[in-house]
Amino acid sequence: MGAYVYTRKDEITYIIDLKQKVANFVNKRNWEHNPKNLAEAICIEAAELLEIFQWVSNKQALEFCRNTETMKRIKEELADIQIYLMSLANRMELDISEAVEEKMKLNELKYQVKNNA
Ligand SMILES: [Mg+2]
Repeated sequence: MGAYVYTRKDEITYIIDLKQKVANFVNKRNWEHNPKNLAEAICIEAAELLEIFQWVSNKQALEFCRNTETMKRIKEELADIQIYLMSLANRMELDISEAVEEKMKLNELKYQVKNNA
């Protein structure tokens, strides 16, 4: 078991390129998923991610970072979730970056930082 190798592809990839890649994949297969089915798929893939953590302690979960095979499974489920998120965004013509920015602004208001000084 070697350490999981973290790559920095996030730093050089645009969300629009990933959304286009997902759209191309879907369009080539003539899939026209209903938004409800895509929302269900997100939940199902999230459950698959959760299954990896089923019955393990918090300490064991933290140690997953050092287990290459487990990290591979987590990475795959994370990708499945992200692919369905982008597919839903494509289907409903939602801008993910705008949605995240807007939601983070709301979160900043909702969960304000408390100054202890
Ligand atoms: Mg999966």
